[in-house]
Amino acid sequence: MTIIASNLQAVNRAIAQAARTAQRRAESITLLAVSKTFSASAVREAYHAGQRAFGESYLQEALDKIEALRDLPLEWHFIGPIQSNKTRSIAENFAWVHGVDRLKIAERLSAQRPQNLPPLNVCIQVNVSGEDSKSGVAPEETTGLAQDVARLPYLRLRGLMAIPAPVEGLSEQRKPFARLRELMQRLNAQGLELDTLSMGMSYDLKAAILEGATIVRVGTAIFGQRNYGEK
Ligand SMILES: *Cc1c(COP(=O)(O)O)cnc(C)c1O
Repeated sequence: MTIIASNLQAVNRAIAQAARTAQRRAESITLLAVSKTFSASAVREAYHAGQRAFGESYLQEALDKIEALRDLPLEWHFIGPIQSNKTRSIAENFAWVHGVDRLKIAERLSAQRPQNLPPLNVCIQVNVSGEDSKSGVAPEETTGLAQDVARLPYLRLRGLMAIPAPVEGLSEQRKPFARLRELMQRLNAQGLELDTLSMGMSYDLKAAILEGATIVRVGTAIFGQRNYGEK
């Protein structure tokens, strides 16, 4: 078995275990393998170990990989910051976009989504930790943005995404995830039909699953340490 295959097995086991603790079905949690900075051949290896959904943050790098892997039935998720001059390529090449935090970006993605493809699945990124360095809409502004995004014809608003500031300890890690879950529950009580909480990475996977994550985004624990210098 390759290192990537055995890492995937370990991550899937950790997801199953956290799901059991949370009294949730493991199938209600999708593992998004974050392949940014790793090669197309690493993605191919993960595919052969059973992985289907992959997350990328850097557009040009992602487009090269998508092209190189056209022969495989992969589901690509864009999880990086979105510049408005990049929306067309994102709308044309991805199934999901996780980091929508402005209406203008959502409008461009909808207008540029090819009509022969299904609607683009989107999550609104929320700044649940409240630090000013992070992207994401403020929690109190999420309702308005969600209502507007939900009306766009070629997008399907699926839920919320967060990248909380790193903290130690399960109970501290759970707090921002709980906030995101409550926010989604509130939006659904107002009539939206959201089914996705994109939250949890390699080090805070368990906390996210205990708070209801439906997509966990895991890079390092599958592919190893990233080396940004070689990019
Ligand atoms: C890189 C990245 C991840 C993966 O992080 P790991 O710590 O390597 O698991 C998850 N989400 C986003 C948005 C990322 O940019």
